[in-house]
Amino acid sequence: MKYFHILLAPLLLLWGCQPSQKTAGPSIKVLLIEGQNNHRNWPETSPLMKSTLEKTGRFEVTITRTPPSDGRKQDFSASQPLIADMPEDLQQQWATWRPDFTPYDVVISNYNGVFWPEEVQLDFVEFVNNGGGFVPIHAANNAFTNWEEYQKIIGVGGWYGRWTEKHGSKIIWQDGKMVLDNSPGKCGAHGKRQPVYIDNRNQDHPIIKGFPSTWKHPTDEIYYNMCGPAKGINVVASAYSDPDTGGSGKNQPIVITLNYGQGRVFHNMLGHTTEAFTGAGFQHLLVRGTEWAATGKVTFPEPDTADFSTSTIVTKEPGA
Ligand code: ZN
Repeated sequence: MKYFHILLAPLLLLWGCQPSQKTAGPSIKVLLIEGQNNHRNWPETSPLMKSTLEKTGRFEVTITRTPPSDGRKQDFSASQPLIADMPEDLQQQWATWRPDFTPYDVVISNYNGVFWPEEVQLDFVEFVNNGGGFVPIHAANNAFTNWEEYQKIIGVGGWYGRWTEKHGSKIIWQDGKMVLDNSPGKCGAHGKRQPVYIDNRNQDHPIIKGFPSTWKHPTDEIYYNMCGPAKGINVVASAYSDPDTGGSGKNQPIVITLNYGQGRVFHNMLGHTTEAFTGAGFQHLLVRGTEWAATGKVTFPEPDTADFSTSTIVTKEPGA
């Protein structure tokens, strides 16, 4: 038994030094916003993100839930409804939803629905402008079409009455760099949902450092024709949008970062299916990207490349 302790003590010391273990630095405080989304699996995907982050021991995730929608049919050709368009009982509920962003290091949005109250919009912009991190997930970039500052924060978005002529350039990955596409038309499209390969486009970025240069991701949607102010975007990863299954035939930026004021934005367009949230690449991205948005650094060790070998793939085009 004595022998056991002699062996175990140095091992425990070593274990405690690993940045991914529960003894790593102070908690990063995360506020996750949910409550409405045209992706009805949000009650499953929010807890998945919370547990993915919290099991690292580095994050403390609080979920705030907005009032529900009034059940109206989604209108992809018009900006999202206002609280004033809601029935009286929901307006009363909205009057009480006032999240305080100030205690948090980073906000994750799993939300796409009715416009937040103006007071919350102003608080949110101030939070990011003053150095708070922001992580929009998938259809969070469909939200708030005509809220100008939100569009600057996310860089690009899609659907709900967005047009290149009015809302800004589309982005694609071409000849080794991001290219703006100002061709007129509606913004927001995707091909058939299927397993995909993701191509790293900035191997030195701390969020993706140590990932295989190309990695498998479970069944998901690859957004294309995403448009917006598109200022200061750094493409971290792209995916080939397969024209045989309704895609653009181009490499689409799918994980991007940008800054707004003092704030950092980690914008992850992946995340349609619940399965997508279980992918190794998605989970490593979420953990590393959320830490980066919160602190500007990634302290987690580079991921084990064996993690990335589990998702099945049906299509692959070499990256441009
Ligand atoms: Zn989707």
